[in-house]
Amino acid sequence: MAYTVAITNQKGGVGKTTTAVNLAAALAIAERRTLLVDADPQGNTTSGVGIAKVELQLSLYDALVEDHPVQDIILSVPGLPYLSLLPATQDLVGAELQLVERPFRESALRRVLEPIEGNYDYIIVDCPPSLGLLTLNVLAAVQALIIPIQCEYYGLEGISQLLNTVRLVQQNINPGLAIGGVLLTMYDSRLNLCRQVAEDATEYFGPKVFGTPIPRNVRLAEAPSFGKPILLYDMQSVGAKSYLAVGQELLRRVEGEHATGMPAGNGTADHGRSAESSSVDADASDAGQGAGSAPPPVVQTAEARTEQSAETVAEEPAVATETTATEETIPADTPEPGMVEAEQSQTAREQLGSAGGPQPATSDAPPPAEATDDHESARASRPSPDPLPEVTT
Ligand code: ATP
Ligand code: MG
Repeated sequence: MAYTVAITNQKGGVGKTTTAVNLAAALAIAERRTLLVDADPQGNTTSGVGIAKVELQLSLYDALVEDHPVQDIILSVPGLPYLSLLPATQDLVGAELQLVERPFRESALRRVLEPIEGNYDYIIVDCPPSLGLLTLNVLAAVQALIIPIQCEYYGLEGISQLLNTVRLVQQNINPGLAIGGVLLTMYDSRLNLCRQVAEDATEYFGPKVFGTPIPRNVRLAEAPSFGKPILLYDMQSVGAKSYLAVGQELLRRVEGEHATGMPAGNGTADHGRSAESSSVDADASDAGQGAGSAPPPVVQTAEARTEQSAETVAEEPAVATETTATEETIPADTPEPGMVEAEQSQTAREQLGSAGGPQPATSDAPPPAEATDDHESARASRPSPDPLPEVTT
């Protein structure tokens, strides 16, 4: 039976579709029979693998609402023999409205997928940016969810609402639903704020956070306009290598430590969060520099300005001792001898006013000594956007 996983976050533009398409492609390249389900009326997953939405006669809508046999709707994906697509078009907006009036409205997708689960090893479902009936249907149908979190201020906002929804689904519809992983997206370790979001996420979700964050990478942004997953568009890009590494990690989580199958070259992506490779996009157009070049001046300046605060983050023991996986996923940057002053007992998070994550807001915390950028200033001056509930899965 297939391992079914939803890529979910009701926040828009955090990398759900990019993750669904490229993770599915990575699994297909590892010769796992993979079905990619587009459950978003935007249909970005559908076009992202090269299927023209305007030419589609049938889509997920027809299976959900018209009870059309799903086998007739599934398409093969060009260039990836192990990957199939259950496409979506704008019609799916109507499905959300029409399902409302039906009994068992939240289990319509489960009924669609059940008969074909045996045909695949993995089913990856891309969700819309909402917690409406379509997302509810997805959460009712899958075994696990992967939550992409964009590494920016507000990145963790809304996660508590998502987790509350997950809890309701567990209690009422799908008791087996688990959090299969948390994926940091658009990560740039040159930015202190980005590292802080990563730390907050890791502190909260622990080893569920994938060891490879997805860096901001222009190739990943370009690939959909060519209707190709990154692995077909630019296999050598850091984005491709990162998604291969995440795919390999998912295989290990699902199939065990000895899961194999990713092509040679996997593992060359950064598995930690070193500034050398995970953050700096090798594509010249991202940073205005070639691979291995110094970061662009604006970032360099920001980095230099916050060097001390960044080092303080690395020193914070609460994060570094979370779990083994945590230690693997966020290697503490080795501070230069003497860089961290002994009297700097106050952690960076305290300096930042504890914005984001499960920490209680410390309204009396002083502002940061220096801010990396506007986002960072905003983070410092605002209260915690969203206290997180306990993780139960
Ligand atoms: P929505 O909520 O609208 O469905 P989403 O969560 O599916 O959005 P994506 O469509 O995957 O998000 O990504 C939003 C935009 O960011 C897209 O233009 C995509 O190409 C770009 N993008 C996603 N990930 C990256 C990345 N790692 N580097 C650069 N650009 C990225
Ligand atoms: Mg999307």
